[in-house]
Amino acid sequence: MLSTVFGHLSSVVVEEVVVDDAAAFAARTVTREAACPGRGRVSARVHGGCRRRLADLAIAGRRVVIDLAVRRFRCRASECGRRTFVEQVEGLTEPS
Ligand SMILES: [Zn+2]
Repeated sequence: MLSTVFGHLSSVVVEEVVVDDAAAFAARTVTREAACPGRGRVSARVHGGCRRRLADLAIAGRRVVIDLAVRRFRCRASECGRRTFVEQVEGLTEPS
């Protein structure tokens, strides 16, 4: 099940798995930099983080809940209106 959920995600590390009615994963990203969705400038300046709860998955009939710690980066592009942005994990998260 792990590889089904995370196999294509080299930027995600799974820290804990609890399986009962649902399968609950605690995971975090290990990215060092991310591109701002504003102007696409890549930033490596981590400015804290937050947790995203992803619960819209189901595998083999079992509900899957992912508690994913993602990083917030500071955008340094002066022409960009965003000061910070939260990284997106392709295939897992969507901009909120
Ligand atoms: Zn930006």
